[in-house]
Amino acid sequence: MGGEERRFIEEAFATNYIAPLGPMVDAFEREFAERVGFRHTLALSSGTAAMHLALRELGVGPGDEVLASTLTFIAGVTPAVQLGAAPVFIDSDRATWNMDPNLLAEELAACAKKGKLPKAVVPTDLYGQCADVDRIRAACDPHGVPVVVDSAEAVGASYKGRHAGAGGRAAVYSFNGNKIITTSGGGMLASDDAKLIEHTRFLSTQARDPAPHYEHSEIGYNYRMSSIVAAIGCGQLRVLDQRVEKRRWIFEQYVRLLGNLPGIEFMPEAAYGRSNRWLTVALITAEAFGADPAAVRRALEAENIETRPVWKPMHQQPVFRGCRLRGGAVAEDLFQRGLCLPSGTALEQEDLERIAGLIRKSRG
Ligand SMILES: *Cc1c(COP(=O)(O)O)cnc(C)c1O
Repeated sequence: MGGEERRFIEEAFATNYIAPLGPMVDAFEREFAERVGFRHTLALSSGTAAMHLALRELGVGPGDEVLASTLTFIAGVTPAVQLGAAPVFIDSDRATWNMDPNLLAEELAACAKKGKLPKAVVPTDLYGQCADVDRIRAACDPHGVPVVVDSAEAVGASYKGRHAGAGGRAAVYSFNGNKIITTSGGGMLASDDAKLIEHTRFLSTQARDPAPHYEHSEIGYNYRMSSIVAAIGCGQLRVLDQRVEKRRWIFEQYVRLLGNLPGIEFMPEAAYGRSNRWLTVALITAEAFGADPAAVRRALEAENIETRPVWKPMHQQPVFRGCRLRGGAVAEDLFQRGLCLPSGTALEQEDLERIAGLIRKSRG
């Protein structure tokens, strides 16, 4: 926490709005909209809920297809499946690790030829680095396919001077406990489309028609963000810039301490943007480095230091066996060689030196 969260929570208590509505929720939505540059925002219980509402609003339903990054966390993909659609996976671009716009264009051309275009394209801003939204839009726009950017990991990151998610028909953000800013759990849907936000707002509170009694002509959800959670969000927004600077500093320390070793490299930063470096991710080539990523992970685990492999690609997940895939080799390679290093904001110089020392020592 940054320090001011408690004050905002007390404010919520003082007004007695302990509910999923009220001035604190309105304030968080307004401040977040200003920050990300979208005209409209909707505060929700999770990023997953935000994706679910966005896709439902775009008409995703049974028998439809949704194109998504294969190298991502599953929560960006499950909402499409819950709506009855089939995900189609697109490989990463080696230079950004994000959805490859060329492969996307190829897949869209193949879809058009078959006469079955996807209902949406969902690129992920991986580990806080923005996908190349302009090129993704250039592939999608001629086919009229909307883009929903999964910016869950990219709060505070930028693309060509705009905030992550900008350029999408809608964007999804997460404040889950592990993200760069957190409300303990929560999400935001953002869009310039007033009708999209208005209707998803309606759906997020059980789709209650305007009537004195309870009247329903559509099926909705209980997805709204609580006022207490929004209060934490208001406090967290005030330290977002600090968080990004700290995470970028952590990344630089790892590069400084380990970057000169053979067989280790770090996630590249695309020239078009500024990553929030949510996680520092290393690529370890076993033969050159002298240990494979699993051995490094075990060596750190023995010292009670947690690391994780890169997201296992969606096309390699048992639950998505048989789903269509374009490319795949880049994401597989990143999964094989990638290791997410400790990146929490609380880490200090001596922690990073200790971790880097153990990584050096793990080499055979
Ligand atoms: C965290 C995350 C989500 C889901 O957000 P929640 O708030 O945890 O539901 C979606 N996509 C990606 C890429 C994420 O990292």
